[in-house]
Amino acid sequence: MIFRQLFDRESSTYTYLLGCPDSREALLIDPVVAKVDDYCCLLEELELRLVVAADTHVHADHITALGALRDRLGCVTVMGERAHAACVSRAVDDGDSFGAGTLSLGVLYTPGHTDDSYCFVMADRVFTGDTLLIRGTGRCDFQNGDAVAAYHSLFERVLALPDETLVYPGHDYRGNTVSTIGEERRHNPRLQVRSAEEYAALMASLKLPSPALMDVAVPANRACGKPVSLPLKL
Ligand code: FE
Repeated sequence: MIFRQLFDRESSTYTYLLGCPDSREALLIDPVVAKVDDYCCLLEELELRLVVAADTHVHADHITALGALRDRLGCVTVMGERAHAACVSRAVDDGDSFGAGTLSLGVLYTPGHTDDSYCFVMADRVFTGDTLLIRGTGRCDFQNGDAVAAYHSLFERVLALPDETLVYPGHDYRGNTVSTIGEERRHNPRLQVRSAEEYAALMASLKLPSPALMDVAVPANRACGKPVSLPLKL
């Protein structure tokens, strides 16, 4: 597999490029609109053809490149069914799969950070979006986030993957790039809890500021990153 972990410094977002060496088909996970030229250039350099662009959830901190990539490269756009994003060409739900060439990703519904959060799973790795971060987890205080749901998603779905599974998160703010399920189970401070209630109390104590882009990014991302007219604030 051809694999690249790409970074948007502005929003500390990781975007993943996966390419099939036989068919030269590729897919992108969580692409950022400001980076579309870079993605197009890299795809060309690696002689890959983008067939799918997928988001793990409706992001609040950056604008997705799904719509722009579809316009430029004619790829299929994929989001989870619970995102209710009418713009995507394919809505996936738990148990579905999608891919490029011989590459196939399984879809795991993992609500909690938002009610439309999904993880994408391969044999040796999982793309966790904001559900599981390296030594952290996604906040649960907006977009129908729910800390109890997050606890169940983390402990019953994500941590049920084999210990050696590589964890590729949607963001990192400290420069970490990859971890494993076993490493996170043992050392992630958010996962050292014994119940959903304890996890919810921990998340409630965080008191995080709203993401700067939230009012713009969420409606735009439901439209695949295309400009939308925002309601006037009176
Ligand atoms: Fe998020």
